Amino acid sequence: MARVAFIGLGTMGYPMAGHLARQFETLVWNRTTSKAQAHAQQFGSRAVTELQDTAQAEFIFTCLPTSVEVEAVVEQVLPALKPGTVWIDCTSGDPNHSRRIAQRLRDVGCDFLDAPVSGGKAGADAGKLTVMVGGSRQTCERALPVIHPFAGKVFHVGDVGAGHAVKAVNNMLLAIALLSAAEGLATLVKQGIDPAVALEVINVSSGRSFSTEVHFPERVLTREFPNTFSLALLAKDARIAVAMAREAYVPAPLMQLAAEMFEMAKQQIGGDVDHTAVVKLVESWAGVKIAPKDG
Ligand code: NDP
Repeated sequence: MARVAFIGLGTMGYPMAGHLARQFETLVWNRTTSKAQAHAQQFGSRAVTELQDTAQAEFIFTCLPTSVEVEAVVEQVLPALKPGTVWIDCTSGDPNHSRRIAQRLRDVGCDFLDAPVSGGKAGADAGKLTVMVGGSRQTCERALPVIHPFAGKVFHVGDVGAGHAVKAVNNMLLAIALLSAAEGLATLVKQGIDPAVALEVINVSSGRSFSTEVHFPERVLTREFPNTFSLALLAKDARIAVAMAREAYVPAPLMQLAAEMFEMAKQQIGGDVDHTAVVKLVESWAGVKIAPKDG
């Protein structure tokens, strides 16, 4: 049975490593050690205090905020790695950065897959995440048994960096959908229309999106805005998508604008709130609240 290690027990990593621990011997490391100890208690994983102890595993997972933190931990673990180890990075990272990390690992005989996930905290809790994998097909196939425990669907999308590229564009589409739905619904509220009714219409019409189907009913109309995916992390994904477009000379004014708006939102309301809190900014500019009429 393979031994796996998981670095980064945040909103996503904690439950993902939990699913792994049900099937494999699982070492866990977290910057805040108490979370690793709680994980060991809850799932029977083994908390390690030294980062290099994760090198005992055949497959090492990371799920950290950005590729910057991933590179830092790779550099720390690197001297202890055994050739043949596969590093699977589930962070929503930067493709260029990942290519550099993959090269560093290749130099010591190890493989790298970027394997960012989609499905949020709910998908991670349920073990039903969509996983988009970049790297060699052979390494991807080798890693499938250790990816499956937290996955609903797994796609091999290309070479190293391809998973991160697809993830960044997916999240850019989310950012644009969220902002455009906020502007549209603020406009309808100004027209005296109940946003709950407007959403019922939109959600059986062509303007619907995950934001109108899930975010607005569950997070905005309820005024709960539960923090499961931070605004700072979505702003980071938007920045990555814009950088890719620019590098490829793709004119992308919508992407550019959405990325700028998320940067501005981060400055104005802080990065630690849920990404859907960006709607409150649109509301403040419009002077309306997107709440049900009877709410
Ligand atoms: P969280 O902020 O909940 O967790 C971040 C994790 O990274 C924590 O374990 C934190 O440790 C650790 N960490 C932060 N900085 C460092 C550092 N410098 N060195 C070592 N460890 C560090 O993030 P999420 O779980 O929400 O997101 C993780 C990744 O997954 C991100 O790239 C995000 O974009 C992506 N993602 C998130 C989704 C979501 O819905 N939340 C959905 C899909 C992808 P500590 O506990 O000590 O703070």
